[in-house]
Amino acid sequence: MVSKQNINVALIGNPNVGKTSVFNQLTGLNQQVGNYPGITVEKKIGFCKLPNNIKANILDLPGTYSLNASSIDENVVIELLLNKNDKLYPDVALVVTDVENLKRNLLLFTQIKDLEIPTILVINMADRMKFKGISLDIPYLEEHLKTKIALISSRKGYGIDELKNLIVSYRTISTEPCLNASSIDPDYFNNLRKAFPNQLLYKLWLVITQDVNFLNLERNEIRSSFTKSHSDLKRLQQKETIKRYQFINDVLKVGLKIDSSVARDYRSRLDRVLTHKIWGYVIFFLILFVIFQSIFEWSKIPMDFIDASFASLSTLAAEELPAGVLTNLISQGIIPGIGGILIFIPQIAFLFMFISILEESGYMSRVVFLMDKIMRKFGLSGKSVVPLISGTACAIPAIMATRNIENWKERLITILVTPFTTCSARLPVYAIIIALVIPDNRVFGFLNMQGMTLMLLYLLGFGMAIFSAYILNKILKIKGKTYFVVEMPNYKLPLFKNVGINVIEKTKAFIYGAGKIILAISIVLWFLASYGPGEKFNNAEKIVIENTKQNPLQEDEFENAVASQKLENSYIGIMGKAIEPAISPLGYDWKIGIAIISSFAAREVFVGTLATIYSVGGSDNEVTIKNKMAAEINPVTGEKIFNFASGISLLLFYAFAMQCASTLAVTKKETNSWKWPAGQLIFMSGFAYVVALLAYQILK
Ligand code: GDP
Repeated sequence: MVSKQNINVALIGNPNVGKTSVFNQLTGLNQQVGNYPGITVEKKIGFCKLPNNIKANILDLPGTYSLNASSIDENVVIELLLNKNDKLYPDVALVVTDVENLKRNLLLFTQIKDLEIPTILVINMADRMKFKGISLDIPYLEEHLKTKIALISSRKGYGIDELKNLIVSYRTISTEPCLNASSIDPDYFNNLRKAFPNQLLYKLWLVITQDVNFLNLERNEIRSSFTKSHSDLKRLQQKETIKRYQFINDVLKVGLKIDSSVARDYRSRLDRVLTHKIWGYVIFFLILFVIFQSIFEWSKIPMDFIDASFASLSTLAAEELPAGVLTNLISQGIIPGIGGILIFIPQIAFLFMFISILEESGYMSRVVFLMDKIMRKFGLSGKSVVPLISGTACAIPAIMATRNIENWKERLITILVTPFTTCSARLPVYAIIIALVIPDNRVFGFLNMQGMTLMLLYLLGFGMAIFSAYILNKILKIKGKTYFVVEMPNYKLPLFKNVGINVIEKTKAFIYGAGKIILAISIVLWFLASYGPGEKFNNAEKIVIENTKQNPLQEDEFENAVASQKLENSYIGIMGKAIEPAISPLGYDWKIGIAIISSFAAREVFVGTLATIYSVGGSDNEVTIKNKMAAEINPVTGEKIFNFASGISLLLFYAFAMQCASTLAVTKKETNSWKWPAGQLIFMSGFAYVVALLAYQILK
């Protein structure tokens, strides 16, 4: 746990320097992931035992290029470093760098150092040095950068113990700055120093130039008397950067040697293929194809297993526990509810396994680079590709996969539009309705109409996602620079440990975040479907016996008829009837109404609910349900309920409506607000209603 007695260690560094790997090396699985209050930036804290029985809270800060903030992530870093009263204010900062990109990485180091926090320079990826012909003069670098250096390889695990020893002795590290701030503009800075003699000059400078919260009162005061025009400030900032690079260049001239005859470079050759105008896309789509095939294939077995286990657990509970409300709640509400959460785990785990492997290997940056130009036209980022495509399996892991989109607006748009892509839960609904209303004919002898319809529905979902992104991009007024730095890291073999930890973390986040809400909604739906007011519900058995006096039913037929009678008169049945006036212009009756309400838990429930209503029993009995559905007649018009018009209307409704409590729960978790899931629900379902209405009215 975070404790005052522990020393606070902040991990800071550019993206892709191996910060997460160092974090994982130091903390193992002792990690807590949360959010910074009010924003969606992930906050990762871990715990580490150091020598001499000292313990440390390790705070993994978001990757940042410099202290000139251009994203909320970077703001988080600056705010923490400016605020001495923060419970997590670091006693010591570890600036993690990549030995191959030392020059660029040191910019941030010099800035952190100038905040006069004891700073250790962690030079990571030491295992690459030999291969790249790099040698370092560590004592020289330590002397001139006025710091202690840990040369480590988080991949191979060496240097970690030395790093821990350095952390323990953080008090001995010099806090002397690298750059004398007043050298940027002597007049300006000397005045600043006179006005605030007790404050660190570089901190004041950050407060003036950055949009961050820092001792609010003072900040306004500082700003009002020391603001310069925007262009003047920019000029000074540039001057600062130039001075820092001069300093870094001078130090590295002696401290870093690269023997380029040693360096062998496969990288550019590989890049030429992987980011090629044509081959790049072909390879990417092939990889995607393989990934999705495997997600579906590999998830099937554990998913079926989870499904079957919970079904038998539920039966077991019903049989073994004393009959009563509590047993019903457990066997029909809680157990299926938990099963409904766990069933997603295989897909989530496999998806994140593949995503981490692609990220770890360095390939993902190439994909982002390839797709960015196209996606940006629609207000999305190159990084939106993965969530949008993962949405075809399930929107839940897909929305969770938006986390690495730095720009908040692009990330939010991606979250909001992802549920339009056709997820696997829509498939059973599509399958049964298409089979009912689309003729099984072939056009031109080979194009199967039913298959074509299914494909059109997929395209429709994808098109709608892109289209709404375009609209949202126009209407959402969210500040956020769309700067595009493609970091092209080296290709690497993925670290198994990083992949594993990432998968565990994402799965946990889903279970604890969205899981609770899914469970709650399943219980509510269970209640609504298992209880009802009045005679018709309570005396369902009697009524069925009465109605079938002439030709009594077989035992299971009887049970199905009772279940159907109960469902019709349960609360959810009453709700289905109550919404009938609203849905009959779409061509639906109250039975479909019940199915629509209950498929709010998950879309695939649609088929099962209809099976109960038509008293088929056992949702896997698809042929029978289909026959019953095909025979349904509207008592008013005398027409078939499932005809071409109402079928198309239903397909469109399911394509667009936000009918997934779990997705709403994940959106809430990822955006930290109910506003966005509420918007999703209203907009998507409203749109679905209008489209379905138009379709039915035109086609009928
Ligand atoms: P972050 O973005 O800074 O958190 O970086 P990650 O920890 O995700 O690492 C980025 C990439 O560098 C991954 O592919 C890691 O496997 C790789 N990596 C991390 N540490 C080392 C190391 O010490 N040596 C080598 N060769 N690769 C490393």
